Amino acid sequence: MSDAVLDLVDSHCHLDRLNLDAYQGDFQAMLDATRAEGVSRMLCIGVDLETFPNVLALAEAHDDVHASVGVHPLYKDSREPDAATLMALADHPRVVAIGETGLDYFYAKQERDWQRRRFIEHIHAARDTGLPLVVHTRGAKDDTLALLREHGQGRVRGVLHCFTEDLDMAEQAMALGFYISISGIVTFRNAEALRETVKQVPMERLLIETDAPWLAPIPHRGKPNEPRFVAHVAECVADLKGVPVAQLARVTRDNFYTLFSKAAV
Ligand SMILES: [Zn+2]
Ligand SMILES: [Zn+2]
Repeated sequence: MSDAVLDLVDSHCHLDRLNLDAYQGDFQAMLDATRAEGVSRMLCIGVDLETFPNVLALAEAHDDVHASVGVHPLYKDSREPDAATLMALADHPRVVAIGETGLDYFYAKQERDWQRRRFIEHIHAARDTGLPLVVHTRGAKDDTLALLREHGQGRVRGVLHCFTEDLDMAEQAMALGFYISISGIVTFRNAEALRETVKQVPMERLLIETDAPWLAPIPHRGKPNEPRFVAHVAECVADLKGVPVAQLARVTRDNFYTLFSKAAV
């Protein structure tokens, strides 16, 4: 990690699910360490409605934490999210996005109809609130793009988070007004194809994230991830783009506030 303190944004993390063993369970100590590494903003992502109050409480308690509301395609919820419910929950100053939502055909071979129905509700909520959509997509390229086109009606912007798909998908999503968010996967030895894709995506469309507590970047791979490790993602992506890490940090931070404009001060 470089010595100069950067100004970094973690555009996608799950602060309510972190493993805090390294901080003896002290959330504030984790937050202090994160800020000391130069992370100035974190978007804490909701994955179901049951635990959304925890996500919102963190965003209400900390000025540098914002929240999103949605139901992850691999999470079962006791309440089926409909667009009206999502919109009502998003009507809060600390909630800046709808999601995460989307389609995951890689881990869930069944239940595709159900995933599509839920994704459509989220797209409608994003369209009608004007809030950006945080999309999780894996092995579902055609359906993801088709539903965004059909139901977004040109009025939904957002991000394909933890992107691992091909350049063609990135380009089609960018044409719809989407950003591409890169996680610690980009540092993995076997991620050569993703690194090639990152080289082709314009910096003005890139975001960086940890997706903590999952997917810790090298050199922390296999250990619990946390937002301060976004610096490793920044360094790897800056390398691929051939720019100083401070520049990559600045551009991805600006991109974050352009997309998540409700988080801008
Ligand atoms: Zn995800
Ligand atoms: Zn996530």
